[in-house]
Amino acid sequence: MPDYKAILNTIYQEAIKAKDKGIVASYIPELAHVDVTNFGIHLKTYNHGSFSVGDFNKKFSIQSISKALALAEAIELIGDAVWNRVTVEPSGHPFNQLALLEIENGIPRNPLINAGAIVIADILVSNLKNPKQDFLNYVRGLANDNTINYNKAVANSEKITGYKNFAAANLLKSFKNLNNPVDEVLDFYFHQCAIEMTCSQLSDAFFMFSNNGICIQNKQHITDRQVKRINALMLTCGFYDEAGEFAFKVGLPGKSGVGGGIVALLPDKFVITTWAPGLNKKGNSKLGMLALEQFTTQTKQSIF
Ligand code: GLU
Repeated sequence: MPDYKAILNTIYQEAIKAKDKGIVASYIPELAHVDVTNFGIHLKTYNHGSFSVGDFNKKFSIQSISKALALAEAIELIGDAVWNRVTVEPSGHPFNQLALLEIENGIPRNPLINAGAIVIADILVSNLKNPKQDFLNYVRGLANDNTINYNKAVANSEKITGYKNFAAANLLKSFKNLNNPVDEVLDFYFHQCAIEMTCSQLSDAFFMFSNNGICIQNKQHITDRQVKRINALMLTCGFYDEAGEFAFKVGLPGKSGVGGGIVALLPDKFVITTWAPGLNKKGNSKLGMLALEQFTTQTKQSIF
């Protein structure tokens, strides 16, 4: 087994020296207050315990990381019917781009860009009794932690400024790929993005993707085949228009969010979560990407 503790410490010490830590997202005004010097890493291994360093226990806004969890719940609820409404190709464009959606008649490229995630939100709104509470309970169950919650101020802040998401939802509606009212679906979507979690809670919640669909409470949520598909989507579509770069440098499926979190995993081996709120130009955490590249290089553990 690699010396995870020493490797994480070295990576952390090197990374915090970086002069350019990226820029904290400000298009959602509430996110702009976060201190750019935060940096945490949490590693949950399959059978050698957990390792962590820095601000791994501070809560942050998971934002688009929630898209993988929402997708898992939608697949758990309606199975392959999800794929009638969203396809599985990388978009090669920013997460909130609208042009392709119009050209492709309201069928989003994949469930990890905003338009696709809004379709998934619509599926959850249709299939859950109390959508916001039920989704929160789903995430709490995956992480086995009932303290996980929404940050209402972040959800409201996005509601006030989420013009492009309103545009995407309206386009979807015009193409009849949204069954519920735009406001209801977006209220759900903004809340799902506004969940706050720590690095260790995220490693726990994503454990099922590295464990054949069985969560840390030993419950089978999704099948092997469904896990394979979600992990493939995370590899090819999980990092905005930088998914190729992430696969090239890090070599793991994962998902990032504009709150500065990244969760990545190696099936049957580990889940690793980083949080550093400064983003690069493509919207991925700058220090997080550097740290994960170092991690898979130094441990020689990636899917390749
Ligand atoms: N709630 C954000 C949005 O829809 C999520 C963006 C992200 O993390 O990629 O713009």
